[in-house]
Amino acid sequence: MIEDDWFWMGIQRWVANEDWFKKSAPVASSADIIWDQLQQQVAVCQACVLHKTRMRTVFGVGDRQAACLVIGEAPGADEDRQGEPFVGRAGQLLDAILWAVGIERSAVYITNILKCRPPQNREPFAEEVAACQHFLQAQIRLIQPQMIVAVGKVPALNLVKTHEKTLGRLRGQVYSYQWDEAIPVYITYHPAYLLRSPQEKRKAWQDWLAIRDQLSTILFKQQV
Ligand code: SF4
Repeated sequence: MIEDDWFWMGIQRWVANEDWFKKSAPVASSADIIWDQLQQQVAVCQACVLHKTRMRTVFGVGDRQAACLVIGEAPGADEDRQGEPFVGRAGQLLDAILWAVGIERSAVYITNILKCRPPQNREPFAEEVAACQHFLQAQIRLIQPQMIVAVGKVPALNLVKTHEKTLGRLRGQVYSYQWDEAIPVYITYHPAYLLRSPQEKRKAWQDWLAIRDQLSTILFKQQV
């Protein structure tokens, strides 16, 4: 079980004030129409070569008014088949992490830098990121998140201005989203990397505790 794997540190689940993650019933609005149009644009996009090899586009999932936006690199094989981000083993580990720190997955919005899978899960090319980034920027403008969590080096280097090149040096401090400096960006390891490098889970746990604390502060302020 991945949850057991995550819990090798003997971590207990943190439980938030239950009101913090409650959302009011969804209301249809012009924003929903804009979301649907954006998703349709992604579904038919041929702006980079990845459209030739994808099975499905992977737009994003979660609360469209989420305070926390989690951004990964690109869809993998499972995501490509199912059209949803973080559904494979890495997705299960992300679920376990969110659960362990007390963040409901439904309380965040999850997407990727790229909406189509690179063949053999290779790292995205710069021209692919450039072609796709306006979709992510539109999602961020619509969600208006209070914080962003970049999971992995590729999203980190495309969301913040930095001279650092390795995830180990990028994590551990708070950045600003480069197109809206009011939005703080937290950087941590991609769950797929943690599956390959379980020795880094302790650092990831520290990152997610800081993310949880920041999100709790944001949600608490929204309640009062
Ligand atoms: Fe279009 Fe983005 Fe898919 Fe490239 S990765 S085809 S830019 S949706």
